[in-house]
Amino acid sequence: MTAPVSSNRPFLNRRLAAFGTTIFAEMSALAARTGSINLGQGFPDTDGPARIAEAASRAVLTGLGNQYPPGPGVPELRAAVAAHQQRFYGLGYDPDSEVLVTAGATEAIAATLLALLEPGDEVIALEPFYDSYAACIAMAGAARVPVTLRPHAGAFTLDLDELRAAVTPRTRLLLLNTPHNPTGTVLTPAELTAIAELAVERDLLVVTDEVYEHLVFEGAHVPLAGLPGMRERTVSISSAGKTFSFTGWKVGWVTAPPELVAAVRSAKQYLTYVASGPFQYAIAEALALPDAYYDGFRADLAAKRDILADGLTAAGFEVFRPRGTYFITTDITPLGEKDGLAFCRALPERCGVVAIPNQVFYDDQDAGRTQVRWAFCKKTEVLREAAERLRRL
Ligand code: PMP
Ligand code: GLN
Repeated sequence: MTAPVSSNRPFLNRRLAAFGTTIFAEMSALAARTGSINLGQGFPDTDGPARIAEAASRAVLTGLGNQYPPGPGVPELRAAVAAHQQRFYGLGYDPDSEVLVTAGATEAIAATLLALLEPGDEVIALEPFYDSYAACIAMAGAARVPVTLRPHAGAFTLDLDELRAAVTPRTRLLLLNTPHNPTGTVLTPAELTAIAELAVERDLLVVTDEVYEHLVFEGAHVPLAGLPGMRERTVSISSAGKTFSFTGWKVGWVTAPPELVAAVRSAKQYLTYVASGPFQYAIAEALALPDAYYDGFRADLAAKRDILADGLTAAGFEVFRPRGTYFITTDITPLGEKDGLAFCRALPERCGVVAIPNQVFYDDQDAGRTQVRWAFCKKTEVLREAAERLRRL
């Protein structure tokens, strides 16, 4: 993985030398500087439910969480996370010993990898990978082993033989992400079953990032922890940012057996110790929202997916219509383009839109060089305007 911004950082240690500024910061700054429509960084342009914002404001004003909350998270939120896992997936977790609240999924990923990995361990991750995975594996002194999702019949698919072949005696864990950012792939029940069998056979831990669990447009989300033999070896990670459209609140969580939660908590307490006190109470309320909220949120985004996917198709891109997440990956080759990073850097000047070049999420840069990602968690009129601008390319 190369740094998206070439820069001179003489003090940065060797483990992090390849990691410059994240692509999200670079592209959001570019959008702000050029006044472009920002379909780059994945954040909604409409806040989540007003009653949840009111719950946060009430928490602040009544002194709930204004001082350090308990290290594992406030009991109300831990209970709400456990109830959510039971309600949606029939998975039972003890709120006291099997749930840990974190500063977003980002801290959950960092703490988990720092806690579980020894220097030199290998981590298998699906490529393209979310950018913090590579950085956190590097911070832990471990080595990432990518297994590349490849375009096939309009979607990015996992080659199970390749996954199986990637396991070595040094493999410590599988780091999965489904629904998958940036490709929008949702691993199928058959793929998840094969992954679970492999993990059991080779006695691997599995860390699964499920922050888009409520954004599956076809079928239902299947948590890996629910498959045979998986509960005891799986660290499941999620967060409130995507599901409730409050990405700035940074409330995330881990669910896992007590020994794994205890390990992750040991690392987590020296990262932030705690975060987001009043927001934890508000998210406890959010998780208990009725099914109508979750269904409405998903339906709204499914409609937005179709608007942007159709717009991108009309503009000439090859579109991989996602089965989950709020991102669409496209291939720019039909437009006569060869390099996604150059394309994305030039796009604001050319038509006032910002997108993310997927190649920065690859070790094998060539595998992702012509792919570009677009976020559709934006107002309908914004998506229509973006599609209009892209048609002029
Ligand atoms: N994992 C994935 C796959 C993501 O797309 C993101 C970005 N939201 C995160 C983790 C980080 O989540 P959070 O904002 O809760 O830290
Ligand atoms: N997860 C968001 C995305 O993929 C970005 C979060 C961030 O900026 N770190 O766009």
